[in-house]
Amino acid sequence: MTDRYAVIGNPIGHTKSPMIHGSFAQSTGQDIEYTAIEGPLDGFAGAVHAFRDAGGRGMNVTAPFKLQAFELATDRLERAELAGATNALKFEGDRIYADNFDGVGLVADITRNLGVEIKGACVLLLGAGGAARGALQPFLAQRPSVLVLANRTLETAVALADRFAPYGEVIASGYGDLSGQHFDIVVNATSASLKGELPPLPAEVLKGTKLAYELVYGKGLTPFLRLAQNAGAAQLADGVGMLVEQAAEAFAWWRGVRPDTRGLIDRMKIPLV
Ligand code: NDP
Repeated sequence: MTDRYAVIGNPIGHTKSPMIHGSFAQSTGQDIEYTAIEGPLDGFAGAVHAFRDAGGRGMNVTAPFKLQAFELATDRLERAELAGATNALKFEGDRIYADNFDGVGLVADITRNLGVEIKGACVLLLGAGGAARGALQPFLAQRPSVLVLANRTLETAVALADRFAPYGEVIASGYGDLSGQHFDIVVNATSASLKGELPPLPAEVLKGTKLAYELVYGKGLTPFLRLAQNAGAAQLADGVGMLVEQAAEAFAWWRGVRPDTRGLIDRMKIPLV
């Protein structure tokens, strides 16, 4: 029997998840149907329960429902607990399991696909929203030599640095304090690029950077990537690899088989120009 999965968000028209999971199902021979659901802004829980009651086995969750999905879950895995948000649910009997694969997807893309080691590297993470929260523990697990977390609202970065202290040192910073510092890897986990904006990052910070990584994908050369390019960053990447890698983790969680990601990422990439 065909097992049913879906991604839920609002809006959801832009989603690439059905295509990605359809491709995984084909390459691994799994019999699944994967659709997109526009969840009502005032009725997320009802939409999840309706999907589950109709035989759904699991869901990906995207904006703006990642926090509500976390609240709805009966059982939260450690990564979801730490991030305070979930991007994947699994239904088993009356249980709703929640995990968060955004951070592991990002780390997999950087280390495996882009060939950049986080271990021993000086890393700068920009932003302290849901995506940054999901990334902190997977980054710390790689043992960078330094991990600086910069955010426009400094208190949020300070609170996160405290919260993640048991997993490793996170140095909270405002943008102004970054002047004169240099990093091997700079990750833009802010949503600034969605509005064509640039975090107030001193350009010199990107000088000599091995990898400038933009979480937003499909927008070509964002203001952040342009700044990095002008500063001479060796490698630029957007978040398409992260998107596919987090999907592969969810697929493996649901189906017990991890699909290859490389060919699909190559097909989905758009030039950073
Ligand atoms: P949140 O809304 O939770 O957080 C947004 C963050 O961006 C905050 O830290 C906010 O700072 C900061 N920010 C927003 N605008 C600016 C600006 N102009 N200058 C400086 N900082 C700014 O978003 P998420 O963490 O969920 O997502 C962040 C980005 O990551 C989104 O663009 C999303 O599309 C992308 N993403 C990509 C994924 C992928 O698979 N490739 C997966 C998940 C997310 P402050 O705290 O001061 O408000």
